[in-house]
Amino acid sequence: MDTSHDIAGLSSASPVIRVRGLVKRYDHQEVIHGIDLDVRRGEILGYIGPNGAGKTTTVKIMIGMLPDFEGDVSVCGFDVRREPLEVKRRIGYVPETAALYEVLTPMEYLMFVGRLYGLADDCIAERSRKLLTLLDLEKETGNRISTFSKGMRQKVLLVGGLLHNPEVIFLDEPLTGLDANSTLVVKELIRGLSQAGVTIFYCSHLMDVVERVSDRIVIIDQGRVVADGSFEELSARCHETSLERIFTDLTHAGGHEAIARQMIEIMSGASQGKVSRTTS
Ligand code: ATP
Repeated sequence: MDTSHDIAGLSSASPVIRVRGLVKRYDHQEVIHGIDLDVRRGEILGYIGPNGAGKTTTVKIMIGMLPDFEGDVSVCGFDVRREPLEVKRRIGYVPETAALYEVLTPMEYLMFVGRLYGLADDCIAERSRKLLTLLDLEKETGNRISTFSKGMRQKVLLVGGLLHNPEVIFLDEPLTGLDANSTLVVKELIRGLSQAGVTIFYCSHLMDVVERVSDRIVIIDQGRVVADGSFEELSARCHETSLERIFTDLTHAGGHEAIARQMIEIMSGASQGKVSRTTS
């Protein structure tokens, strides 16, 4: 596989992903309130935030799935609203859950995906077979996806996102359901691709993985960027030594022990009075 990545029309100094003044509303409800973001070539950006913070929405906008937004977003030098096909040609997207066509075998699914990217059939077949074999799925290539476990499905999604050798890869919880060995492979893959110049936009709730894998971490909360820097920079800013603690500090998401205690009290019928999200 050719791993060299020269992005046509984009100077080496230009950001591969450029977001300016991004605002998104669903049914008049504003959920992204003005995000600015530059991601450089080869960077591994960990994009984290509490449930409902706006991570998936941002990613869907960047990959051209949600054209209805305010602001400017370009990927590989192409405006996602005006030139969505040029963007889609150059990116890979590995969603956490996707409607895999369950009646298909992985080879049939990957043939479908590869053809969408304009790859030749023999190239798709060879890359798919090799990649599935490396992910321990060589015996499953002829079986229907409906018979697959969660982790096996995730591996098929992963191969589908990589097949066309994209310049930018958006990963949304790519490790979901993967066993320990496959997790190590994917983490190593992310590093290797970044060294080859591929830009990685990595969304996850796995703080230890984000901490170790990312060059840079962006934390969003309620549709706003609340932190942006390397782990070392965020660590120095918050005087904390783990991303988990930095995350809870910056998103004011503490009080987990009290919340768990209240849940147990409610379940056992021992709860009296007010339920609170903060430490009592
Ligand atoms: P999670 O970590 O739980 O996946 P997230 O950070 O990816 O969350 P989003 O899925 O981007 O969050 O959601 C951001 C906000 O937008 C939430 O308040 C959510 O309720 C809202 N939202 C997302 N999709 C829709 C939709 N199709 N219609 C209406 N509101 C939506």
